[in-house]
Amino acid sequence: MSPVPLQSLWSVTAPAGPACSALAGAQRAQAVVVGGGYTGLSAALHLAEAGRDVVVLEAVELGERASGINGGQVIPGVKQDPDAVESMLGPDAGGQLVATAAAGPDLVFDLIARHGIQCDATRAGWIQPATSEAALAQLARRAEQWRRRGAAVEVLSRSAVLRLTGSARYCGGLLDRRGGTVQPLAYVRGLAHALGRAGGRIYTRSPAVRLGRAGGAWSIETPGGSVSAPLIIIATDAYTHAVSDELRRTLVLVPSFQVATAPIPAPLRSMILPEGQAASDTWHLLRYFRLEPGGRLVLGTRGTFGPAPTTRDVQYHYRAVHEIFPQLRGIAFEYHWGGLVAMTRDHLPHLHELAPGLLAGLGYNGRGVAMATVMGRLLARRALGAPVVELGFPVTPVLPVPFHALSGIGARAAIQYLRFIDGFARVYERAIARAPFRT
Ligand SMILES: Cc1cc2nc3c(=O)[nH]c(=O)nc-3n(C[C@H](O)[C@H](O)[C@H](O)COP(=O)(O)OP(=O)(O)OC[C@H]3O[C@@H](n4cnc5c(N)ncnc54)[C@H](O)[C@@H]3O)c2cc1C
Repeated sequence: MSPVPLQSLWSVTAPAGPACSALAGAQRAQAVVVGGGYTGLSAALHLAEAGRDVVVLEAVELGERASGINGGQVIPGVKQDPDAVESMLGPDAGGQLVATAAAGPDLVFDLIARHGIQCDATRAGWIQPATSEAALAQLARRAEQWRRRGAAVEVLSRSAVLRLTGSARYCGGLLDRRGGTVQPLAYVRGLAHALGRAGGRIYTRSPAVRLGRAGGAWSIETPGGSVSAPLIIIATDAYTHAVSDELRRTLVLVPSFQVATAPIPAPLRSMILPEGQAASDTWHLLRYFRLEPGGRLVLGTRGTFGPAPTTRDVQYHYRAVHEIFPQLRGIAFEYHWGGLVAMTRDHLPHLHELAPGLLAGLGYNGRGVAMATVMGRLLARRALGAPVVELGFPVTPVLPVPFHALSGIGARAAIQYLRFIDGFARVYERAIARAPFRT
């Protein structure tokens, strides 16, 4: 039993999406996209804008999975630092991936403006507050790598982070002015409206249950019907299990869970994230937080593997809020919710060609608002015939995570271990703070 009902704040504040029904009967299209999150809707929208007749099949309702329940933090780049990506893939392929991912927020905010999407889009930047001096040194290296590539990324002092976040918990940080925030479910629904206007068809409650090939075309079956098309795009990310075992084994799934406070009273609110940035700190089990337009603080961190969070899980998040913002003790909590994040073995997203006319894009490692939108456009470009060398992103073979069957146990163990490491670091820091010789 948890103290408040399990419900996403975003589902209460988002404008309605388009009315959709389940697929019925046999249909044809030029492309079928499986999955109605950012990847699938962006792919479908870019294909429809290029004049293709597109069908999207969504297993549940639009935005019920990661794209509609995330933190809404629009973060440039991928999880790996730019130099690391270039050493992994080489300067050419790595440099192209870094540039493509770095432009993710530009694409998101451009689509929002171009299609008039009402999703509280704000581009005030993204902060990484540092939890230790070692983490701050790493952030300084990260900022330098981005600056070398012409990006507006700066290192923040302890007092600057205090002023920009309202938390005295951090010893400095990084400010990346390319980032921002959206209302994540409103963004999904806005993309879906734009797709409808461009002529795309969306079917919800229509899980793809079988994929086959006959007469030179692919055929996808759902419980109520089927669609055949020469091109299929799989855009199911962390929820891939039902559609492709091969892809599922490339991912390790990690739960992430968020809580939202009640609206914070005005004088207090004006001191928390006053310039509207979002933040994700440098703990191993990072904590990400932002204000939403109603004045609630939304904070997330790694969640529970169980079917629903226990009171203990929820209290853990409340404690995280109070540790970062002690001034919020006494403010009620109103919402909590969570979902699954798809991690990859190299911490990079992947675009795969599983067979001729069968593409997939997934694996955003917690950075999918911008990157999944970009992936959708990459998938559409590739589907429209762009040569791999012109994509600006590698097309990689499907490599299952070694010992995948054990990955759930591994992820659980890793989370416990990282929680322990972070907890130990907190105790150590408190001891240092109390030491009489501290300057
Ligand atoms: C709690 C949480 C917080 C996060 N916070 C952030 C953040 O602040 N910033 C950030 O950049 N990223 C964040 N992420 C990650 C981000 O949300 C994802 O990377 C991104 O939404 C992935 O988009 P997607 O379209 O690929 O996948 P999804 O949004 O998961 O969409 C996949 C869709 O495929 C559908 N599907 C699955 N199987 C089938 C089938 N057989 N037939 C039809 N449909 C099917 C699913 O129902 C689902 O709707 C967060 C994730 C979570 C869970």
